[in-house]
Amino acid sequence: MSEAFIELRNIGKQFLGLRALDDVSLTINKGEIHCLAGENGSGKSTLIKIISGVYQPSDGEIFIEGEKVENLTPIESVNRSIQVIYQDFSLFGNLTVAENLALNTELRNKVKLVNWGRVRKMAKEAIDRLGVSIDLDAEVASLPTSSKQLVAIARALMSDVKLIIMDEPTTALTGKEVETLFQIVRDIQSKGIAILFVSHKMREMLEISERLTVIRNGAKVAEGDTEDFDEAAVIRHMTGLDIEIQPYRKPAVGSDEQPRLEVEGLTLPGLYENINLTMYPGEIVGLSGLLGSGRTELALSLFGLLPTHAGNIKIDGQSVTLRTVQDAIGHGIAYVPEDRLTEGLFLTQSITRNIVATSLDRLSSKGVIDMKAVEKETADTIQSMQIATPSADKMVGELSGGNAQRVVLGRWLLTDAKVLILNGPTVGVDVGSKAEIHKKIRELVKDHGLTVLMISDDVLELAQNCSRVILMHRGQFVEQLEGEGIKEDVISDKLKSFT
Ligand code: ADP
Ligand code: MG
Repeated sequence: MSEAFIELRNIGKQFLGLRALDDVSLTINKGEIHCLAGENGSGKSTLIKIISGVYQPSDGEIFIEGEKVENLTPIESVNRSIQVIYQDFSLFGNLTVAENLALNTELRNKVKLVNWGRVRKMAKEAIDRLGVSIDLDAEVASLPTSSKQLVAIARALMSDVKLIIMDEPTTALTGKEVETLFQIVRDIQSKGIAILFVSHKMREMLEISERLTVIRNGAKVAEGDTEDFDEAAVIRHMTGLDIEIQPYRKPAVGSDEQPRLEVEGLTLPGLYENINLTMYPGEIVGLSGLLGSGRTELALSLFGLLPTHAGNIKIDGQSVTLRTVQDAIGHGIAYVPEDRLTEGLFLTQSITRNIVATSLDRLSSKGVIDMKAVEKETADTIQSMQIATPSADKMVGELSGGNAQRVVLGRWLLTDAKVLILNGPTVGVDVGSKAEIHKKIRELVKDHGLTVLMISDDVLELAQNCSRVILMHRGQFVEQLEGEGIKEDVISDKLKSFT
């Protein structure tokens, strides 16, 4: 039988007029990896700050190792063996790694004269314990984020700790760094220390945790053994939306159907080689592969941003040359870049300007822009794409990621796009908006006969939205999955086999 380390009972937290937490109970057992899941703003950090004594709860009770604790303060929380790795790591940037690591302990032991030999020895042991190598004499400010995080973890492990809380620890990490972190989390657990892993990323929480608590709008909506949840269930709990999980399938059509896009023998030496691709109206084709597989370069060539050295491209049966972006747009090809915030949008410009940016030719005559038409098309787009904004004059930089993405999509629909290339369509977008964007893309494909090439690393996104998934490796198409063959684990296993 597992034993509770900490038990929060019916916790409520009220900020001036705002109920951040309402009747939340959470039990973290000794030595378990527990995930606290919830969308941005759901109350995760607030709950952590209650456990770490930074905030006092407005209601409820806290028990640590069976003992009721009143007025938990930050010092009391540390004394009860709780350590938090905050999102900003709370390190001193102008001090070295060794100094940061030693400071806590030396301060706690009220050492008057710092013995630097001992400080270095302690610091070295702490870093070695993690099995990583970090220069003890480096200034913390000069370290990459992943190393800063490791220093913060090493520091937490130097005290007598029974629970380590990590607040969204993977936010700034690469895939490889996440793996290292997971390894470390498992090592920490093997020493009998419990971990509360706070996250809004489905795949991570399902991989690392043994138990899961989901909160939404400050209330607990689910808890249980992680193995009883799948991504779809967690998404449903986190968003409260009954998100469509039936995978998209292209409606059956006659064999004489005219392909929308045909690519034959397309080659750009060193980047991609002999690419053959046929896409029909109403299809969403997924394209995945590791970084450097050539997938983005292929997309850039189809959008006239990179040249091609050999091969043919046909749109609706007609050969086309795509030397410039204007050529591509003229032939009905649209591209939403991976980093829409730096490449795709003018952040300091209004929604209106952003939406009509690629349609100005069509909306002007003799160099004069038809402002009435601009206003009408913008208003229609805001409505049809469900962009949440009080006004079309709002700067795009002030919109949430999901709404910004809708502006980009809406913009391309005004150009009468036939082929829409989406590169990482929901990167950095929260789960709720993500589902809405997927729904929108599927509607566009169904209702307008659009053809979508969806480039993505998000295996669930591919499995749910694509009628075909192509995997690219070292510049070539190496695998195509169709129909029932499109499964999350199948795609991720194939991708892993490329490393
Ligand atoms: P999460 O970590 O899940 O993203 P938070 O716990 O940071 O969410 O925030 C939950 C809600 O509480 C949000 O609406 C946030 O604006 C509000 N909130 C958090 N801290 C404070 C505070 N100190 N004063 C007022 N409101 C706050
Ligand atoms: Mg938070």
